[in-house]
Amino acid sequence: MSNEPVSPNSVSFKAETRQLLNILIHSLYSEREVFLRELISNASDSLTRINFEMLTNREVLDPETELGIWITVDEEAHTLSIRDTGIGMTAEELAENLGTIAHSGAKAFLEAAQHDNKVSNDIIGQFGVGFYSAFMVADWIRVTSRSYRPDAQAASWYSTGSDTFTVEPAEKSERGTLVTIKLKEDADEFTKEYRIDSIVKKHSDYVPYPIYFGPENKQINRQTAIWRQAPHQVEKEAYTDFYKQFSLESEAPLLKLHLNIDAPVQLYALLYVPAKQEHGILSLRRQDGIKLYARKVLIQEYSKDLLPEFLRFVQGVVDTEDLPLNVSRETIQSNRVIMQIKKVVTSKLLDLFKNTATDKPDEYAIFWEQFGLFIKEGIATDFEHYDALLPLLRFHSVAHPDKHISLDDYVKEMKAGQDKIYYIVGDDEKSVLSSPHLEILRRHEMDVLLLTDVIDTFMLMRLEKYLDFQLVNAASDELNLPEKEEEKKDEETSPAGEEGLVNRFKQQLGERVTNVRITNRLVESPARLVDQGGSAASEMQRAYRLLNKDFEVPKMILEVNPKHPIIKKLESLSNEDAFATDLIEQIYENCLLQEGLHPNPAQMVSRIQKFMEASLK
Ligand code: ADP
Repeated sequence: MSNEPVSPNSVSFKAETRQLLNILIHSLYSEREVFLRELISNASDSLTRINFEMLTNREVLDPETELGIWITVDEEAHTLSIRDTGIGMTAEELAENLGTIAHSGAKAFLEAAQHDNKVSNDIIGQFGVGFYSAFMVADWIRVTSRSYRPDAQAASWYSTGSDTFTVEPAEKSERGTLVTIKLKEDADEFTKEYRIDSIVKKHSDYVPYPIYFGPENKQINRQTAIWRQAPHQVEKEAYTDFYKQFSLESEAPLLKLHLNIDAPVQLYALLYVPAKQEHGILSLRRQDGIKLYARKVLIQEYSKDLLPEFLRFVQGVVDTEDLPLNVSRETIQSNRVIMQIKKVVTSKLLDLFKNTATDKPDEYAIFWEQFGLFIKEGIATDFEHYDALLPLLRFHSVAHPDKHISLDDYVKEMKAGQDKIYYIVGDDEKSVLSSPHLEILRRHEMDVLLLTDVIDTFMLMRLEKYLDFQLVNAASDELNLPEKEEEKKDEETSPAGEEGLVNRFKQQLGERVTNVRITNRLVESPARLVDQGGSAASEMQRAYRLLNKDFEVPKMILEVNPKHPIIKKLESLSNEDAFATDLIEQIYENCLLQEGLHPNPAQMVSRIQKFMEASLK
C-alpha cells in the first residue's frame, strides 16, 4: 500500500486548495493532533447524514450495519486509519469534495493567512481546517469509500498533498469511508495507543457515535452527549454520574441546570454548581470556564466568555448549532451568538438560584455558605446583574446571628419609625457583636446586619440602598434615630464639668482625632470612634486598608460616655497624673482595636501590664 500508485488520471487541486495544502505541509503548528478531531468530525457528520437518509429512504446499502467509527494503527507500516459506516462517497463525490475547499473554516483560515503569513501556525487549530489538516502529519492519504447508494461503485482517492490527486475504482464491499494516512516520520506518536486514546478523550469524547480503537475494538469515547437529550428523559443519577465523570469530583453537585433552547439562540447546556467551592483532590478542573462545543466539536475547553466573571464557580458544557466552527479564540468574546448564549445562560442560572432560595431554603443555605462570596462579588462588580443579585444576598444579623436573612427579611422586621437598614463592618462576627456601636441600636431594638467578609467592603461601595431604605453603617455619626425619653433626660441632666473632660482628651490625642464629644448613646462602653460624614468614607478607608494602599490610621471623632465608671474615675484624677494619661491612651487604643484599625496591638501590652500591676496593689 505504501508505494505511490502510478496513475494516468491525476487531477490538479484547485489553486486555493494547493495554497492551503502548501501551508499545512510546511506548518510548524505544535498541536497537529487536531487533524484527528477533524477526521472524526467528518465521520460523525457522515453517520448523521446516513441516519437521516434512512428515515426516509429504504434503498440504502447495509441498512443493518452498526453506526460507528473505527480507528486502527499499524506501527510497522506507520499508518493510521479512520473508518466509518456513514454515507460514503462516489468517485465523483470524492473528486468534488476532496479537490476543492468546502470547509468554511478552511476558507476563513486561508483569508486570514493571506493577510498575515505568521498567523497561520497558531490558528490552524482554532479554524478547524477540515480534512486537509491531515496533511500536517501525512506523507500520503488514501480515502476509499463506498456510497450508501446500492448501485454505486467503491472508489479510492489518493494524494501526497502536492499539486494533484487521483481517483480510481476500488474494492470495498461495505458502506462508508476508510481514510488511511501514511504518517510522516516525525508523526510516529499517532500510532501509539495512549496518544490516540487521550486525543479522542480530549477533543471528541462526546461525538454521538461510538469510536472504537485497536484490534479489540475497545470503545474510547464516552459517546452520549447527555446535554443533547431532552431533560425529562435523563435520570437524576445520569446527571450525577456524568458530572462525576466530567469533573472527577467525588461529591454529587449541589445544583444542576439543563437547558435545551431554540430561541433566541439554539443551545444545549448542562451546568453544575459543585458541592464545595474548593475542588476535590482528583478534580480535572485546571481553570475556570465552561466547555464550549459547536456542533459536537470541542471549541474551547475552558471558555470564560459564556458566563460573567462572578459565576466562575459554575462548571459544565454549552453546545450550540449556531456557532461556526471557524470562530477564532480572539473573536469568540465579541461573537453575537456567544453574547446571546451568555445572556440566556446567566439569567437562567440566576433564576435557578432564586428558585432554590424560595423552594429549598436548606439547599440554598449550603449554596450561600459556599458561594455567597461570589454573589457579593457580583454586586460589587457586575452592574448588569445587580438587580437580579439583590434578592440572593443573605446575612447574619444581631437579632439572627445563626440564621441567614435576606434584605427582605430585614425590611419586614423593621421597627415603626425605622427608615434605614443598619449594618456593622468588622473582621469577624464575634468581635463585631461586642462593638460599642451596637449599644444604641440595641436600645432601640433595631437589627443590624453583620458584615465580616473582605468583599463586603467592596460590595457596600455599590449597595447604598435597598428599596427606599438607605444602608447605614452603625459606626456612622448620622444614625438619625428617633430620640428616646431617657436620652432626652440624660441630656438635660448633663453636668457642666464635661467641657473639661472633653478638653483633656483633645489635648492629649491632638491630631489623632478630628473631634472629641460627649455622647449619651453609649451604655456599656466608655468611648467609641465614629466616622465623620457617614458610611461611604469609612467604606473607602476600609477598602484601602484591605488593599494595603499606604494605610494610615484614619482620623475619626471620639465619643465619650460620661456615665461610665472609667470616665468618672478619670474626671477625679488630676491632669498631671501619669495614670490619667495612660487611661486616655488606652481608651483611645481600645476603640481603634474595636474598629479593627489598630496598626500594632502588641504595642499595648506594656501599658496593660502597668494597669494590672496597679490593680494588684
Ligand atoms: P467539511 O467537513 O467542513 O465540509 P472537509 O474538507 O473536512 O470539510 O470535507 C469536505 C467534504 O468531504 C465534506 O463536506 C463531506 O462531504 C466529504 N467528506 C469528508 N469526510 C467524509 C466521510 N468520512 N464520509 C463522507 N463524506 C466525507
